[in-house]
Amino acid sequence: MPTNNVPMLDLQYQHRLVAAEVAEGFTRVLDASSYVLGPEAAAFERAYAEYLGVAHVLGVGNGTDALVLALRAAGIGEGDEVILPANTFVATAEAVALVGAKPVLVDSGEDFLIEADAVAVALTPLTRAVLPVHLYGQVADVQAIRGVVGSDVVVIEDAAQSQGAVRDGRAAGSLGDIAATSFYPGKNLGAYGDAGGVSTDSDRLADAVRALRNHGGVERYQHDVIGTNSRLDGLQAVVLSAKLRRLDEWNEQRRTIADRYRLLLGDVAAVALPIVGERSAHVYHQFVIQVDDRDRVFDEMAAAGIGVGIHYPKPIHLLGAFADRGLGAAGAFPRAERQAGRILSLPIYPGLTEQMQDRVVEELIRSVA
Ligand SMILES: *Cc1c(COP(=O)(O)O)cnc(C)c1O
Repeated sequence: MPTNNVPMLDLQYQHRLVAAEVAEGFTRVLDASSYVLGPEAAAFERAYAEYLGVAHVLGVGNGTDALVLALRAAGIGEGDEVILPANTFVATAEAVALVGAKPVLVDSGEDFLIEADAVAVALTPLTRAVLPVHLYGQVADVQAIRGVVGSDVVVIEDAAQSQGAVRDGRAAGSLGDIAATSFYPGKNLGAYGDAGGVSTDSDRLADAVRALRNHGGVERYQHDVIGTNSRLDGLQAVVLSAKLRRLDEWNEQRRTIADRYRLLLGDVAAVALPIVGERSAHVYHQFVIQVDDRDRVFDEMAAAGIGVGIHYPKPIHLLGAFADRGLGAAGAFPRAERQAGRILSLPIYPGLTEQMQDRVVEELIRSVA
């Protein structure tokens, strides 16, 4: 039944393009009963490492585990401070808390990204790591952050929203000492369930993650450290390999949609468009505008059948889970807080047609008028 509705996300377009390849791959996995890690996972790890231009990719259970394992591999734990942006998905801060370290929040820039100057101010003798987030698919300035921290501070990228993004010619996920990513179905490179990955050039960090993800050892029944169980499934690896081959093309489609939003909304004074740096190839995991009276605009668009989102309604320090951790009172991170009240994510994904986009723009212009 044809409808005028535009969903926030539709993964069917991507699925149709990989369905045959995925079915073949699933048969290989099922025939070999290689469900956990195995040859398909190893093949994906190699392909993604090559794509990023890093020595190692380790497939893990999900993006949150990828962050935890990267932190643990780097030796971050009790008593350590880790600097991260106040505006991010909860998992970034959650991972820091899960390893027993203290999240130290910093405000974000007008482009929503963590800034090196803010990191410099937040440094203390207890700082052991910085966790820049490539929020919405735009790459944070990891090089500048590296420039303001000492060599004893580990830089861990949260690359969950930035598969395929590039800054200064280098892939997101290859810029820090180690990086974590998520292959949650809705990410730019998404599996058919939970999955994640850790990438690094360091043999030492890769070996540590390889053991930690597999009960603390790589040889059966040899457990050298207390690890966990967080491994990539063969079936998910099949999906990821098939989608990786199309990732650049799909990210290009996202950029085309973004350019068209800019064209159609450029003259609408009530809509602030996302700021993009010249040095970054944005992959638009989200296209995030800012408007006054956001909640009303959200409700009106939702009522008109337009799927819109808010990423994220509350910065980390204002979430219940972190309320008693002393991360900052209301007002501590004014830019992140102001943005949280104004941001609105518009539909953007491969398969979104110009006709659908016109509907989004039409309802948005009506709502902000
Ligand atoms: C999705 C996401 C994560 C967590 O990934 P999961 O696979 O859902 O655990 C972490 N950080 C950011 C910025 C994310 O968007």
